[in-house]
Amino acid sequence: MKFTVLGSGAGIPSRTRNTQSYILDIVEEINQYFLIDAAEGVQHRILHTSVRPAKVRHVFITHLHGDHIYGLPGFLASRAHQGGEDIPLTVYGPPGLKEWVGLTLKISGSHLNYPIHYVEVSHNMRYEVEGFSVETYLLDHTVDSYMYVFNEPEKLGKLDTGKLKSIGIEPGPLYKEIKGSETFSHGGITYATSDFLGSPVPGRKISIHGDTRVMTSPGYLSLVDGSDLIVHEATYLEGEIEKAHIYFHSEIQNVLQNFSQIDYRKILFSHISNRYDDDDIRRIRETLGNHATIAHDYLEITIPRISL
Ligand SMILES: [Zn+2]
Ligand SMILES: [Zn+2]
Repeated sequence: MKFTVLGSGAGIPSRTRNTQSYILDIVEEINQYFLIDAAEGVQHRILHTSVRPAKVRHVFITHLHGDHIYGLPGFLASRAHQGGEDIPLTVYGPPGLKEWVGLTLKISGSHLNYPIHYVEVSHNMRYEVEGFSVETYLLDHTVDSYMYVFNEPEKLGKLDTGKLKSIGIEPGPLYKEIKGSETFSHGGITYATSDFLGSPVPGRKISIHGDTRVMTSPGYLSLVDGSDLIVHEATYLEGEIEKAHIYFHSEIQNVLQNFSQIDYRKILFSHISNRYDDDDIRRIRETLGNHATIAHDYLEITIPRISL
């Protein structure tokens, strides 16, 4: 599982940063990509990666500000010509998204050759998506803006080969069969497979924020708690906490202080304002610990399967 930044900028693109889009690469797990937000130019960013649009079957939109959605109609229209024919796609997002995309495609005469479904998200919901449990949480922004929390299903524990041998089952194709079923029979006795498995391996948890002020409610913090990766906006990188609050955005140290109450493996700050140049970013990045970093376009983060 990998997380790829397609755009790490806030508001308007710069020469080095496109506005916000991300890819959750779960090709190894389920041969798909989840696209989170679709800024203008997202198709072009995708062309610089190994992402195949046909393998994007689910798009998650955090909120309806232009810097997060202006690339969506173009992406959908092009996908029809990029191997996406007949491969269904579902778009998750706040109310109004379906209307806007539908109208844009209609007026521009774009016809999709695959089925498209829309799921209108709301606060504190849970959606089953390709075995993942995806939770939503309403954030604090000038329009309804959501966090998506992607929970990977846990994996079965390893087969206890010693135990299997002790009942007379030697290694072979039968082991795979046993792992794939709830019970198995041997020598006239039926066994529960679970008695021959090690402890399950927990799934990974990735919490991706739309634009927001720093959120401190206990319900929110407990939802983010235990994340393998948190992606948070950081429109303000240093010392403008009040300003960030006034403009419904966040400041980096304020976010870190807030999350000192919870457990997580890594935090990625993104949605970076154009006001900061490379030197600023380098200097600020150095002040962060190992568990925090600042995004740049095309940054790839591998998310290993380790329990906290
Ligand atoms: Zn934004
Ligand atoms: Zn916004």
